[in-house]
Amino acid sequence: MRRKLVVGNWKMHGSLAANAPLLQALAAAKVDGADMAVCVPFPYLQQAQEALKGSPIAWGAQDMSAHGQGAYTGEVSASMLKDFGCRYVIVGHSERRSLHGETDDVVASKAVMAMLMDLQPVVCVGETLAERDAGQMKAVVIRQLDALIQGCGPERLAGVVLAYEPVWAIGTGRTASPAQAQEVHALLRARLAEVDANVAAGMQILYGGSVKAVNALELFAQPDIDGGLVGGASLVAEEFLAIGRAVSSS
Ligand code: PEP
Repeated sequence: MRRKLVVGNWKMHGSLAANAPLLQALAAAKVDGADMAVCVPFPYLQQAQEALKGSPIAWGAQDMSAHGQGAYTGEVSASMLKDFGCRYVIVGHSERRSLHGETDDVVASKAVMAMLMDLQPVVCVGETLAERDAGQMKAVVIRQLDALIQGCGPERLAGVVLAYEPVWAIGTGRTASPAQAQEVHALLRARLAEVDANVAAGMQILYGGSVKAVNALELFAQPDIDGGLVGGASLVAEEFLAIGRAVSSS
């Protein structure tokens, strides 16, 4: 039985002052039946660590370097994330892929480095609207997943959390229907099963793209959807916690 997981992605939002009440509300919340985490901007990792330590909500980052250390100006390594108690790191978010040129291979390298440092990578895959409209959805998500499988090797795959995030649903208010999301999740799981049936059965595959409390229950009730990667709605404590409750009761 896979445990459900809800991960918040704050993106480039927040300030010390604005984060404080949000983190305080999360730290005080009772979370039953699901795992929850927030991935915050790097400068706020210490604030998140101090606020959430000892609470049921974990924290993490939104990206990391594929390199261990060295002359990589501006980069942040996995071991630095560990210094701040991170458990998760989002890797290959579509904004990193499209705005920062991250290739499938770079994403796979980051995922491997995260696991070597005992971080759990939340690896994002997903097609653009143009790709979906051109009938390329399957080819795109399988290509992205295959690069991950190739990069990790079957033995490491079990350490990955996968997130299906159709690019056309991210921050647009346009959610994939539960059936559309389930179709892709099942496709991803079937591809994983060709590599390793146990890994496929155990892997948490999250859905991301305009998840809100109002649509979460129906999405999370799908057999291959194991929780959510939540952007905008993770910035409002009550909304994010309501999504957590939806995943717990699905
Ligand atoms: C995301 O940032 O990964 C995301 C899914 O954003 P939103 O929930 O705002 O669509």
